[in-house]
Amino acid sequence: VNGIDAEIVNDTAEALKKYESPLRVIEGPLMDGMKVVGELFGSGKMFLPQVVKSARVMKRAVGYLEPLMANEKSALTSQGTIVIATVKGDVHDIGKNIVSVVLSCNGYRVIDLGVMVSCDKIIKAAREHNADFIGLSGLITPSLEEMIFNAQEFERVGFQTPLLIGGATTSRAHTAIKIAPHYSQPTVQIGDASLVVGILNQLRNPTLRTEFVAKLHEQQEVTRAHHLAQNQRGRKFVSLNEARKSRPSFDFASADVQKPQSLERIIAEPTSLQELLPFLDWSPLFWAWGLKGNFPKIFEDPKQGAEAKQLFADAQRVLKMLVDRRVLKPRGVAQIWPAQSRDDDIFLFDENKKYNIGRFHFLRQQAEKQTSKAGEPARYRCLADLIAPEESGITDYMGAFAVTTGPEVELSACEYRDKKDDFTAIMIKALGDRLAEACTEWLHFKVRRSWYAPDENFTTQELIAEKYRGVRPAPGYPACPDHSEKKEIWRLLDVKNAIGLELTENYAMNPPSSVSGFYFAHPMAKYFMVGPIGPDQIENYAKRKNLTLNQVQKLLASS
Ligand code: SAH
Repeated sequence: VNGIDAEIVNDTAEALKKYESPLRVIEGPLMDGMKVVGELFGSGKMFLPQVVKSARVMKRAVGYLEPLMANEKSALTSQGTIVIATVKGDVHDIGKNIVSVVLSCNGYRVIDLGVMVSCDKIIKAAREHNADFIGLSGLITPSLEEMIFNAQEFERVGFQTPLLIGGATTSRAHTAIKIAPHYSQPTVQIGDASLVVGILNQLRNPTLRTEFVAKLHEQQEVTRAHHLAQNQRGRKFVSLNEARKSRPSFDFASADVQKPQSLERIIAEPTSLQELLPFLDWSPLFWAWGLKGNFPKIFEDPKQGAEAKQLFADAQRVLKMLVDRRVLKPRGVAQIWPAQSRDDDIFLFDENKKYNIGRFHFLRQQAEKQTSKAGEPARYRCLADLIAPEESGITDYMGAFAVTTGPEVELSACEYRDKKDDFTAIMIKALGDRLAEACTEWLHFKVRRSWYAPDENFTTQELIAEKYRGVRPAPGYPACPDHSEKKEIWRLLDVKNAIGLELTENYAMNPPSSVSGFYFAHPMAKYFMVGPIGPDQIENYAKRKNLTLNQVQKLLASS
């Protein structure tokens, strides 16, 4: 129950003497222990890191007993079987792995198909294992489209299996409006790993299920009706032309536009992981493990404080192991180019401004706005506005970058997973993400210093609070929601050969502990959200990108 595994093999051997059969040890003291864990977790008295550690104890004990079990069939899987996968084109699996552990220690048999799993494979596995549930996970917005496709296919082949949807960009609304209508079985979005057991238990129990499903259908119906009403009322858009005309106007003459020291591509690697530590933001590590709050204040939280401290100590231990063994090699590639904007796009040039060598496409806010906050350029924003237009006569500059902690994160995690240590495996991945972000912060700092802020010197806290001049918006995020613009970054920087980072067919970065984006230097640059756009902009964007309307709608549908 406390997740301590130091003596588990000895304890299990001792229990075996007393209980005589391996099965009875599993179904007796081990399952009793996990039941306590499940109850504490369910009632909010235990947190995910602790659950994953308890599961590690269970796994080690079962690992010892399994070879000793003759033909006894374990009742460990009495609760049912779930096939779980990260969908095709996506590589993120920290949340999915946590859910797998939580379910397996609550008596579910979990068939985890891993990442980038095609619909065919999921269907095959669900049939082969006679799944009672299917769980789909994904992080990037194109995965939402992939989930719709999966639901359609499950319907086509006549599955009777409830469908669970999880991952950072999934939502109750998207599930109700876009996924559930394609599948006649219950389709449930699960917002948090702590809810999954409760939901599956209800779906498994014939009496509870009827009530649960009725409520689910009712809620989803309300969400859809609400959405429909909103659509019929019609969103108010200004035309793209009007939006462009009333774009915020940035003053480039006084913007201190500077030519960087070098326009060469740089490939940068910190000398050691330690060099990255002053750039590391710890808060998201706690979020990855389901704790809520910010570092270091979270340590004082009356409910989660003790757990947060323990988690931080564990993180330090695993990080030290990674530092000592020099397994991870974070690295990045970046370049700055002369750039001019034209409407909503930015054109990049060679050093002598003779040739146009690249083009980034951006979207412009278009939803009608009545008010704007004082002092803020709030209307109809577009990232292209941050770069001087050709007719200004000012040569402006912008950059792009890609950073990865490398495939070593997954390899290292795998090593621990094979040793039945999911806790360390998940921690390595969570640290891999942190280090990718830290390396991104470190690289951005280097770039700013050699470009327009030679004397910059902020504290870690100030860096995390983004006190520096400039932004680094990431494709797929609200200011530039189109993930496919990464393709142009990859072409311009030859990212794949430079740092071994690839794009999947849906523009997820593989390996997953990676970041990519643009550099903007304008002193007024801020993050914002493009939000909903009108049909005229969709058409215009398709033309600019040489895509069909349908392709653009798919790219942007989920955002
Ligand atoms: N310190 C954090 C930094 C990452 S979150 C960490 O370690 O995780 C902030 C990053 O998300 C930004 O640097 C930017 O790359 C991206 N981002 C945030 N808001 C954005 C927006 N509205 N549009 C585009 N990118 C955004």
